[in-house]
Amino acid sequence: MTEYASTFMSHVKARNPGEPEFHQAVQEVVESLTLVLDRYPEYRTSKILERMVEPERVIMFRVPWMDDQGEIHVNRGFRVEMNSAIGPYKGGLRFHPSVNLSILKFLAFEQVFKNSLTSLPMGGAKGGSDFDPKGKSDNEVMRFCQSFMSELYRHIGPDTDVPAGDIGVGGREIGFLFGQYKKLRNEFTGVLTGKGLNWGGSLIRPEATGYGAVYFAAEMLATRGQTLEGKTCLVSGSGNVAQYTVEKINQLGGKVVTLSDSNGYIYDEEGIDRKKLDFVMELKNVRRGRIKEYVDRFPRAVYRPIDPKSDHHPIWDHKADCAFPSATQNEINAKDAQNLLRNGVYLVAEGANMPTTLEGVRIFLDAKILYGPGKAANAGGVATSGLEMAQNSMRLPWTREEVDQRLQLIMKNIHKTCRDIAERFGTPGNYVNGANIGGFLKVADAMMDQGLV
Ligand code: NDP
Repeated sequence: MTEYASTFMSHVKARNPGEPEFHQAVQEVVESLTLVLDRYPEYRTSKILERMVEPERVIMFRVPWMDDQGEIHVNRGFRVEMNSAIGPYKGGLRFHPSVNLSILKFLAFEQVFKNSLTSLPMGGAKGGSDFDPKGKSDNEVMRFCQSFMSELYRHIGPDTDVPAGDIGVGGREIGFLFGQYKKLRNEFTGVLTGKGLNWGGSLIRPEATGYGAVYFAAEMLATRGQTLEGKTCLVSGSGNVAQYTVEKINQLGGKVVTLSDSNGYIYDEEGIDRKKLDFVMELKNVRRGRIKEYVDRFPRAVYRPIDPKSDHHPIWDHKADCAFPSATQNEINAKDAQNLLRNGVYLVAEGANMPTTLEGVRIFLDAKILYGPGKAANAGGVATSGLEMAQNSMRLPWTREEVDQRLQLIMKNIHKTCRDIAERFGTPGNYVNGANIGGFLKVADAMMDQGLV
């Protein structure tokens, strides 16, 4: 780390104690930005970075709700509105017991750079709750969502802040949240994205993050004259991002051999084809079951439970060409990164946000593999949310083909921006620098134009 970066990080850590995920996300960015701040000292004198690590607003609130047995529960709700220099706040809601301020600040911070990279006018935010939707009935989830929105509605709006889904928040939850917002405001507007197709949603939005990560991977491979045809791929997670990552890899001729959830993972040497993916989609999206059930249905695959005390995750210890971490933050540590390289992986495209630790990232960069960080590789989701906002404003839906073409073009452009900027700042092939600097410049210039606000 440079002296500037280490002084800056000491300041961030002192001001934000007990927020390790937020420190990690800021550190990765600061290391890249030293290159920009040296070249353009006006950003340093205007304290642009100091301003960017301070959320414009943090909202925290009580979410009381009643379960089917009549027992009362109290969860905590959050919305971190990080930066609105280039557009209304935009970013997902996460419902997971691990949710806390550190995790949401890291996600909101990353979102600012990611949204800027899409070239669409969206600021950055993130929110959610420590509510766990697992094992809850549809009615319990509905009552929770209604209580959550009964406070959040005051702070959001189609020109102010437009939330979407993330871990634990899919079509069902967006529906309940939208219904409550509409009732409270008496307005039918594009206040959330990821909506149902009959009521303002966009075609391709459910597919967008996974498809986008694969389009980004295809662009990275093309720089080495390769395609996904015949490549063996490791995918983690089994939720929204993982499912559509598998679908697109299959369409482009690759073979996916793994999927996981927080209890364990499956390895299917023969590949997860269309029929098997349909089973996973039904299992996860309708029956809300566990990935373990995959091997009951397809007994030639193997299931291994996860040992939380282990120093590595065995999903990353299989022979493969490409890896698509698509579950959660910090799922690839230094040992996992080494295992991936040892097993022949030379492309990592991050569907999840910050799935690789700082040490893991360093190992990928040193090995000069094709490493696409989340804020670039998974930007297709929020980009298509931006396209949903555009369709809502026009009150006109686009066709599947039109949205998909726009998504492909956006991913191509993000890839080009990352490559060109990495080259311009003397680190060719380093997509981390490309994404961090590319995302920063547009936001920083907008902040300079708008004065000290
Ligand atoms: P889902 O809730 O649909 O799926 C999440 C998957 O990850 C599940 O298989 C879940 O398993 C697993 N998982 C969650 N938390 C953990 C954990 N702590 N340890 C191990 N496994 C875990 O979420 P998404 O697919 O939407 O999101 C996945 C990742 O992609 C997240 O990092 C999210 O921030 C990122 N992302 C999502 C976007 C979107 O459009 N949805 C956009 C950009 C990024 P289990 O069922 O056991 O919890």
